[in-house]
Amino acid sequence: MVARETVTLSVEGREVQVEVVRQPRHLGGSQAYWRCPKCEALRSHLYVAGNELACRCCHKLDYRSRHVLHPALTRAAKLRRALNAPAGILAPLPARPRNVWPVVKASVARPIVNT
Ligand SMILES: [Zn+2]
Repeated sequence: MVARETVTLSVEGREVQVEVVRQPRHLGGSQAYWRCPKCEALRSHLYVAGNELACRCCHKLDYRSRHVLHPALTRAAKLRRALNAPAGILAPLPARPRNVWPVVKASVARPIVNT
């Protein structure tokens, strides 16, 4: 059985009625979902953007992690800059400078990817 109730929220000083749907879980209990006022899909979270309450899809919100490089790539680029190497993960590294091998070795020898 699905229980439904309506909650009145204040969004930017304006009252918005949002339906809450409680669905039974397999191992007992229930889980509550918001019904998006815009697309009427059941969502765990609703967001306020532009004075409007809606789900992530309706607001076309995106995850920051989709646009951030992998930490290993960021670190590799930082090491390349330190070595004055051309940008690009596949670009060749410059020849080893004489008499600075211990410093270069220590900075390059650290693992880039932690598994
Ligand atoms: Zn929506």
